[in-house]
Amino acid sequence: MEENPHSPHLLIFPLPFQGHLNSMLKLAELLSLQGLSITFLNSHHSHKRLLRYTDIHARFAQYPGFRFKTFSDGLPDDHPRTIHQITEMFDALYLSARPFLKKMLIDTLPPVSCIIGDGILGFVPDVAKELKIPLIHFRTVSACSIWAYFCIPLLIQAGNIPLRGRHEDMDRLITTVPGMEAFLRGRDLPGICKDNDINDRIFQFVLDATLKSSEVDVLLLNTFEDLEGPMLSHIRTKCPKIYTIGPLHLHLETRLAASNNMESFKSSNSLWEVDRSCMVWLDKQPPQSVIYVSFGSLAMLTREQYLEFWHGLVNSKQRFLWVTRPGSVGGDDDSAMELAEGTKERGYIVGWAPQEEVLAHKAVGGFLTHSGWNSTLESIVAGVPMICWPCLADQPLNSRFVSEVWKIGIDMKDVCDRKVVERMINDVMVERREEFVKSAKNLATLARRSISDGGSSRGNLDLLINDIRNMSFQTHCS
Ligand code: UDP
Repeated sequence: MEENPHSPHLLIFPLPFQGHLNSMLKLAELLSLQGLSITFLNSHHSHKRLLRYTDIHARFAQYPGFRFKTFSDGLPDDHPRTIHQITEMFDALYLSARPFLKKMLIDTLPPVSCIIGDGILGFVPDVAKELKIPLIHFRTVSACSIWAYFCIPLLIQAGNIPLRGRHEDMDRLITTVPGMEAFLRGRDLPGICKDNDINDRIFQFVLDATLKSSEVDVLLLNTFEDLEGPMLSHIRTKCPKIYTIGPLHLHLETRLAASNNMESFKSSNSLWEVDRSCMVWLDKQPPQSVIYVSFGSLAMLTREQYLEFWHGLVNSKQRFLWVTRPGSVGGDDDSAMELAEGTKERGYIVGWAPQEEVLAHKAVGGFLTHSGWNSTLESIVAGVPMICWPCLADQPLNSRFVSEVWKIGIDMKDVCDRKVVERMINDVMVERREEFVKSAKNLATLARRSISDGGSSRGNLDLLINDIRNMSFQTHCS
């Protein structure tokens, strides 16, 4: 493949966190397959980890128009970069990446004809506007959560937030968000709405970035019309041009298969070392017998929570594969070793798994998840029912949709008790299995339809590429 000198030059700029990098790298590869030239921005810190744990350079080297560029996230190398320091991380990123972006856009040749910016980065629209470069927003979270973010001014006006930890408000129905009147409770609101202070900087970052999406040329979402149609109709009243192109991992897999490039599909975008030994373990388990447990890349568990999950899993008598990300559990590591010993009979623990492959494995029958959006979509595509234990961001709303709207699992929200864990695992794996599997398989079929010939996500990707070519043409002519 040779680089086409007339191809539009796109800049893709994700928040350099695992979930965001994963979906934006998939988007970048989808667009590279269509022959677009792409510069992909990543922080030095995350890029170093990608280089260490993946084949990312070799994979993207097959696209001649593709290049990585890195910037400082403004933090020292040994900074822990966990969810506990999120405000510090955003502050440092804004200070460091904004001037970098501006200078880079001025200096880069061939000039950037269009930016696809992570919709959570509120400074990107300011820079794009100043330099008169067309901007497309990509939000890596669910449409339902974006709609809730858009409704924050209404929620404040109605006195629904801040919740200020008022216990009685957690279970009360909130009727302020159109389309969610029948099932939205205080505890289902996105994480930022549960904090006590609406002047909190993260609250303001998210609100500001969301409202800016209504001013950009296009809003791209990793979802599909049959999954979130009603929520999308609401967002369309604020952002007229929305292209749903998800589930992105399935979309990419399908297009790679069509171009006979299945090796690339098996590659990972992981910031941790993938332990593939769990696939060998899964191969030895009976069909649909294993509950897969993972809380994603950001969630942290206390030692007490970890133990409640462990006892619940062991007492359920079901087999389990559990991802315990390094550094994700508080307390000392010796007891983790003891737990690993006690798990031998029915369980397997790894530090990081090839999640998409795990969920697609025939031995996996359920997913105990934190309801991150990538994980939710990956489970939907695999037709695997979920038990949700949401922690932050869009997760509490995603888990409510899993249980009340799509009916493909149970929401354990805000409870962490071994008896509840045990009961819910048995519900999903045994007692209510049939009903959940039926709905999950139905959604998986709709997901596949959306990226096949004539499907909405497939058609939207073509429209997006057309728009990018038009934007590029206009930028060059102006
Ligand atoms: N993931 C993985 N291996 C693991 C755990 C997670 O590859 O052991 C991937 C998972 O497939 C998903 C991403 O990490 O694509 C996590 O993103 P998500 O939006 O679900 O949650 P976040 O990490 O942003 O909270």
